[in-house]
Amino acid sequence: MAQALVLEKKGELSLREIALPSELGPNDVRIAIHTVGICGSDVHYYTHGAIGPFVVREPMVLGHEASGTITEIGSNVRSLKVGDRVCMEPGIPDPQSRATLMGQYNVDPAVRFWATPPIHGCLTPSVVHPAAFTFKLPDNVSFAEGAMIEPLAVGVHASVKAAIKPGDICLVTGCGPIGIMTALAALASGAGQVFITDLAPAKLAIAGQYDGIRPINVRDEKPRDVVDATCGSDWGVDVVFEASGFAGAYDDALACVRPGGTIVFVGMPIQKVPFDIVAAQAKEIRMETVFRYANVYDRAIRLISAGKIDLKPLVSETFPFDQGIAAFERAAEARPSDVKLQIVL
Ligand SMILES: [Zn+2]
Repeated sequence: MAQALVLEKKGELSLREIALPSELGPNDVRIAIHTVGICGSDVHYYTHGAIGPFVVREPMVLGHEASGTITEIGSNVRSLKVGDRVCMEPGIPDPQSRATLMGQYNVDPAVRFWATPPIHGCLTPSVVHPAAFTFKLPDNVSFAEGAMIEPLAVGVHASVKAAIKPGDICLVTGCGPIGIMTALAALASGAGQVFITDLAPAKLAIAGQYDGIRPINVRDEKPRDVVDATCGSDWGVDVVFEASGFAGAYDDALACVRPGGTIVFVGMPIQKVPFDIVAAQAKEIRMETVFRYANVYDRAIRLISAGKIDLKPLVSETFPFDQGIAAFERAAEARPSDVKLQIVL
């Protein structure tokens, strides 16, 4: 039995003992969890009890954005040792699946992802995880930053999919944690300028602290007008990252992308959204989608360690584990000035 932050059912959390698998296989490591970030998905399971086809039917431990310290290694593990500070990639695919063999293990239908029903998450003092999905943190990367590699990996994966070129001008629609991290990943990947849109001034102000990011409040300015001033009225941005999942943003994405440019769909709308295919065809744009990430954790860690991305301003507040439920209530308030709330064990 282990203490854990458990989503009993929609709207009901508890901090209690629960039986969790703890057997250490030969290719696994055991990790004492240090910091866990609260993700929008954790909050959505708490407030709605489901995300699409994933429905909370049994009590489930929440949390998938984690860092910690290795306390034990399996007999085959050579890449990591006891005492290493690490962060973990929360999705474990079937190593033999066709998707995994293609390198796209993130879309393996059999992937087991922390805190996605029925798989337990990591808001518990100790977890067992495959060494292959556990990454050593350099000394200059903190546990707080380590626990933000997971959302940053989404942005890095989106930049890989975008095939950013030096000096690209980008637009990110949506200034949530993933939107901001996508903008930072694009800049670190060589983008020369990144616009980011939202309705909430507090969110835009946080993004606007970073050199190279130009916030656009869509209540005050039309994204296309702002883009025109930089790119010319007959052109547009090289890459749009749609990171809001908000129906209205798809028209902005199409209006702002240049002919022959790229739209990367990062945000997940809760319902089907209308999308103007002909507008996309008329500019012959390239469209890419991302589902979580694959093969970018090491790159994301390196960008932090090298000082190319500073995530520290994005930690809004840190809660002790015994205040974990209060942390989730705060997250459910969705204060516009909160980017990332974290729980320290
Ligand atoms: Zn997350």
